[in-house]
Amino acid sequence: MTITRRKFDALIIGAGGGGLRAALQLARADAKVAVVSKVFPTRSHTVAAQGGVNAALANVSPDNWHFHMFDTIKGSDYLGDQDAIEYMCRAAPKVVYELDHFGVPFSRRDDGNIYQRAFGGQSQDYGGEQAARTCAAADRTGHAILHALYQQNINARTHFFDEFFAIDLIKDKEGYILGAMALEIETGEPILIEAKTTLIATGGAGQLFRTCTNALINTGDGMAMALRAGVPLQDMEFFQFHPTGIAGKGILITEGVRGEGGYLVNADGERFMERYAPRAKDLASRDIVSRAIAIEVREGRGCGPDKDHVFLKLDHIGADIIKKRLPGIRDSAITFAHVDPIESPIPVYPTAHYTMGGIPTNHKGQVVVPEREGPEDPVPGLYAAGECACVSVHGANRLGGNSLLDILVFGRAAANHIIGYLQEHRYHRQMDDDGIDMAMARLARWEQQGEGESVPELRAEFRKVMEDHCGVFREQNNLAIGLEKVTALRQRLQNARIQDQSKIFNTARIEALELENLMDIGIATVASALARTESRGAHSRVDFTERDDTNWLKHSLYFEDGRLDYKPVRLKPMTVAPFPLKPRVY
Ligand SMILES: Cc1cc2nc3c(=O)[nH]c(=O)nc-3n(C[C@H](O)[C@H](O)[C@H](O)COP(=O)(O)OP(=O)(O)OC[C@H]3O[C@@H](n4cnc5c(N)ncnc54)[C@H](O)[C@@H]3O)c2cc1C
Repeated sequence: MTITRRKFDALIIGAGGGGLRAALQLARADAKVAVVSKVFPTRSHTVAAQGGVNAALANVSPDNWHFHMFDTIKGSDYLGDQDAIEYMCRAAPKVVYELDHFGVPFSRRDDGNIYQRAFGGQSQDYGGEQAARTCAAADRTGHAILHALYQQNINARTHFFDEFFAIDLIKDKEGYILGAMALEIETGEPILIEAKTTLIATGGAGQLFRTCTNALINTGDGMAMALRAGVPLQDMEFFQFHPTGIAGKGILITEGVRGEGGYLVNADGERFMERYAPRAKDLASRDIVSRAIAIEVREGRGCGPDKDHVFLKLDHIGADIIKKRLPGIRDSAITFAHVDPIESPIPVYPTAHYTMGGIPTNHKGQVVVPEREGPEDPVPGLYAAGECACVSVHGANRLGGNSLLDILVFGRAAANHIIGYLQEHRYHRQMDDDGIDMAMARLARWEQQGEGESVPELRAEFRKVMEDHCGVFREQNNLAIGLEKVTALRQRLQNARIQDQSKIFNTARIEALELENLMDIGIATVASALARTESRGAHSRVDFTERDDTNWLKHSLYFEDGRLDYKPVRLKPMTVAPFPLKPRVY
């Protein structure tokens, strides 16, 4: 088969906020840049972000980047790398003002400055009064950001491959990444995109779990591609469960609701967060609020006929504020929970939300592996940014509003490093066919005909196993059984066949390729969770309830062959004194 080939300076896989911010920087520097996305760019999951993006602008409460840095480190349960966190918090005001200039219609205060709302884990003065640090465009911030970035990219003449599915990275014998193989979804034709640098910006893997806030497309493809190219995945045991998904549906109700004054109540009408986090109450960090809800329900204080959820009450904040600041939330509640929050509380329960782990990178966006010349040696030509990457600024638990910040800051930083790399590496490296073969074999495998298991059924079974065995609370036996089950499911996927080869637009084949990726990441997640015998941030073990800094203040690295390794947390910031380890109370 002859394969279409295209050549670019820089390839970006993913057109969410991370990919588009990087693409814009590169296109404006006159690099020849291609963006591949399996959906039309403005349908990427960034579009769904509601609450906002953090930056210490001090428009609403006294603030500075150092307070933000402290909150992020504490939020991460001290697993975040302090150098990367310093870099991100310092860069935050700049990237938000850039967005303002790109045309993002931020909500405004009466004095004309950008409006900022309170979010979980934000404080003044290193753990003092609640801060308001989240810059918002009503409750549709991601939508505003993604559309502005897309328009700017069109203006800058970025080349888009819309509705192309990336299959695998191409790597040469010396370890350089030379681009990727992709599939044009509409025609089913493979295409080889050669590039001097490749940036993975494929977003998170929320589809690992049955109930989640994530789009159907969030299947962790880029993480699985990196794993297959020999890159380990970092800190995969840390998966964020958002406290307030609409009960039974998983649809997100932003933390901004609690930032605007909403709060949680149990069946007795009690504002129970006061017991779990006396100071921050409903604005404690997400892991803490999610566990509190799960405990209320487990102990019989849940609401509804099955006592299986709690209520998020916001009728007291008034119709005006709800209509002005939370219009999207009101729509979602009416559509999916059949309640109008102006009058009645919303039934909520924790739902899988955010992948803290991912492809290990440094703060320049370079993918780093431990095996080459040093413990953090860059893979030449390979970058990652956004939710698929692990810098690590979120450590064991991400603070709300810090992910939009992460994708912007590190998308931009990766592009800046790529610009330098391109000046030093002016020519494409010679590519042999070996690298192409692996991707073509993956494609051919899903053309086999005959009887076999059904891909959608395996996907449903797998996501249920993940939820039952690797959810909010975890335990040795349950995790061990979960690992056996996901490994067996991965094996059964080998025998699956696409039942209806004629299904239009190759969607059946894409779903099969996505499930392979999801399962590889699921195994990494459960294996890493089983090994970590402590509770830290979102990883909560009922059999090891304490944080164990003596043995576990380290990042996990999961390799494709199932091996686990560890590397130290970078506790030294770039320019300021380190924040010492403390117990985490809110
Ligand atoms: C409902 C919801 C609300 C949120 N609200 C907030 C918030 O208020 N504040 C905040 O800070 N964070 C929020 N988050 C988190 C934040 O929005 C995401 O972490 C962030 O937007 C991810 O951006 P990204 O660029 O990494 O990836 P995404 O926006 O997920 O984009 C991924 C891109 O990769 C492409 N892609 C993936 N696989 C392939 C493949 N195989 N081939 C080709 N293309 C591929 C997709 O097409 C897409 O373009 C929210 C998340 C959700 C789910």
